Amino acid sequence: MAENPIRYVLFDVDDTLYHPSTGVLRLLDARIEAYLHQRFGLPEAELVQLRTEYWRKYGTTLGGLLVEHQVDPTEYLAFIHDVPVDTLLQPDPMLDQLLARVRAECVIFSNAAEAHVRRVLQRLGIAPRFRRLFYIENLDYVTKPRAEAFRRVLTTLQTDPATCLFVEDSPANVRAAQEAGMRTVQVGEPFDLRSGVHSHADYQISDIHALEPVLAALGLLQSLGEI
Ligand SMILES: [Mg+2]
Repeated sequence: MAENPIRYVLFDVDDTLYHPSTGVLRLLDARIEAYLHQRFGLPEAELVQLRTEYWRKYGTTLGGLLVEHQVDPTEYLAFIHDVPVDTLLQPDPMLDQLLARVRAECVIFSNAAEAHVRRVLQRLGIAPRFRRLFYIENLDYVTKPRAEAFRRVLTTLQTDPATCLFVEDSPANVRAAQEAGMRTVQVGEPFDLRSGVHSHADYQISDIHALEPVLAALGLLQSLGEI
């Protein structure tokens, strides 16, 4: 039997491995706005404008802050990720069992900080499923959707994009992964109001638990009897 071309499943973390209704990302967003408010004293309408501008130009708010204001990224990340993950998220044994059956290496590819990524994986009870993690610090603050972020991940994995399945909620990042040559799964809505980006992923699912049939269709799932 021919070897399955897909050897890596790359997972985003926030709003991908847990549902947006948990409110984690909303709180992270509020922390970003609190940071900008403290630092620049801008009214809310201007904060939103500034974030949209940074988001379009640099991919993240931090990208803009680093280039245009030389902020200390460590201090910024600690401030914005100060959200009660353990209260908002619950362990997800169903997701853990699904990940245990994947016939490919599961890898984290997140724009968030290492401490936050580890906290979320720990709380969901899925941390042992991921041996390799990419987060904002070890990506040297080069984040999705920039093509360079994808290149760095592929270089570190020593592989080519055709071996990767990319699972993510942000339509802009899904589109970037497709442009990089990866197969893609859009988790949640394919249209992002903030950026106006519409993704056309290979697969679209409502939430992460619906990944099972996609993995099965791609021949990436061990049957329950095999584990
Ligand atoms: Mg996300």
